[in-house]
Amino acid sequence: MDNNMAKCMECGAYALREVCPKCGGRATTPHPPRFSPEDRYGHYRRRLHKLAAEEAVQ
Ligand SMILES: [Zn+2]
Repeated sequence: MDNNMAKCMECGAYALREVCPKCGGRATTPHPPRFSPEDRYGHYRRRLHKLAAEEAVQ
């Protein structure tokens, strides 16, 4: 139900996406996938995933 809700790390507002609609800060989900309890590496994980995808294309 609320699995897609993210909370802004800047102002604490809830957001439906990873960008806060209020302040534009980074929002993280309270139920992060896998290893990080704070989804601290979510940004890097997505970057790595993107890089890996780009490398796979080459
Ligand atoms: Zn915010």
